[in-house]
Amino acid sequence: MPVLSTEAVVLHSFDYSESSRILRLATRDAGTQSVLARGARRASTKFGSALGLFAQGVAHLYLKGGRDLQTMSSFDCTHARTSIGCDLERFTGAAALAELMLRFSTDEHNEDLYMTLVHALDAIEVAAPEHARGTSLAGAWRLVAELGFAPALDICGICETSFAPGQSLRFVPEAGGVLCARCGRDYASGRAIPDSVCATISAWLQGSEVPVPDIREARAHQRLLREFVHSHLADGRSLRAFEVWENGDWNAR
Ligand SMILES: [Zn+2]
Repeated sequence: MPVLSTEAVVLHSFDYSESSRILRLATRDAGTQSVLARGARRASTKFGSALGLFAQGVAHLYLKGGRDLQTMSSFDCTHARTSIGCDLERFTGAAALAELMLRFSTDEHNEDLYMTLVHALDAIEVAAPEHARGTSLAGAWRLVAELGFAPALDICGICETSFAPGQSLRFVPEAGGVLCARCGRDYASGRAIPDSVCATISAWLQGSEVPVPDIREARAHQRLLREFVHSHLADGRSLRAFEVWENGDWNAR
């Protein structure tokens, strides 16, 4: 059986049997993979405590075509990202990114997608708790773009007219993004948005770390993102990590 050693990030993990774990990994060379880590629950394991959520390292995999669950023989952790787990804002944002990967990525090689995930998690790891939502939003939109369904933000998705500054716009997920007010009238489900929202999403997609000014605006952005992502899901199942991220006001005292 071929052995593949590839950089990977732990997206999801659960116990399997008395001694093992099953993980979902984003890998640099083999897309997203489900793997069985035999013995990973034992104290004296070769995996050690390396398999925490969002940990990054080199995974040694036995890959067999046509199989849903592959085997991981070992994982050399290079970056544990433990500080994400120490703050709920960072953790819930990173979990939403992981959910995006789990629901949309495939086992196709996609290095750009993998690197976008790594950079997003790196940014969340060092974000101040009050900025973690904005940082997570930026990372999520960049993943959406790498997954191939970024919204058009500077022209109407239907009539393709360029937007003028201050123009009233509607964000309509099932139409693929932002529409002019005239085209948007045909969609009851759309939301009126100020053009500053488009500008912020555009800036995030271009790699800028534009902060969101307050929790209300952050939540409005999260709702737009969730509705947009949900409209691209074939199975209609809810996005649970997105909902937890959106509804928790972890900074409320
Ligand atoms: Zn239009």
